[in-house]
Amino acid sequence: MNIILLGPPGAGKGTQAERIQKNFNLLHISTGNMLREAIHAKTPLGQQVEATMSRGELVSDQMMIDLVKARVAQPDCQAGYLLDGFPRTLPQAESLSVSGVPIDAVIEIKVDPEVIVARLSQRRVHLASGRTYHLQHNPPKVADQDDVTGEALIQRDDDQAETIRHRLNIYDKQTAPLVAYYRQLANSGKADAPAFYQVDGAQSMAEVTAAIQKILS
Ligand code: AMP
Repeated sequence: MNIILLGPPGAGKGTQAERIQKNFNLLHISTGNMLREAIHAKTPLGQQVEATMSRGELVSDQMMIDLVKARVAQPDCQAGYLLDGFPRTLPQAESLSVSGVPIDAVIEIKVDPEVIVARLSQRRVHLASGRTYHLQHNPPKVADQDDVTGEALIQRDDDQAETIRHRLNIYDKQTAPLVAYYRQLANSGKADAPAFYQVDGAQSMAEVTAAIQKILS
């Protein structure tokens, strides 16, 4: 089973993917985490995307398409995966469909922009694992430390309030049209079209997880 999680930055896609991947034996593929790891490891890709990412802007479609196509062709993706952060533009979505990458369902987590600004400015991340925390709703056991490794948590450069608003604008312009795209595809009657579902992301994390689990079952 291959799933796309769609939704604005801060909708909780990463947190939900981490929670559901174990129950359904799906691999969590976060393109944002892949790029952050590349920056951390100072690879050529990381050096190319670092400035774009810290401004909260999108990396080029071609670079992302190449990255994801190579990733989903790996043996560990055979049992199925959850795509988090890809596709983010119409050309990315179209390239998935043209290259015959099978997708069973698209799940949109829908959240109000104001809720997102409040959420993201309190988000902290463990860089090596991609685990995320929220200072109020999902705090680490020890302040500023990852629960599993005890390593330091960071605030992403692109989680500063100004940059969050910029990212939300970009989402509205470039990614939100994918909702109509996938809704239309689901209603097209094509045999290989993914099903489309919407989940209310303003609910608690546990309620959102339950709603997604219900869809996947
Ligand atoms: P995320 O962790 O999903 O919020 O992604 C963080 C940043 O990585 C984004 O703001 C973009 O700069 C970059 N990025 C991740 N996925 C994509 C994508 N599919 N297309 C373009 N840029 C991306």
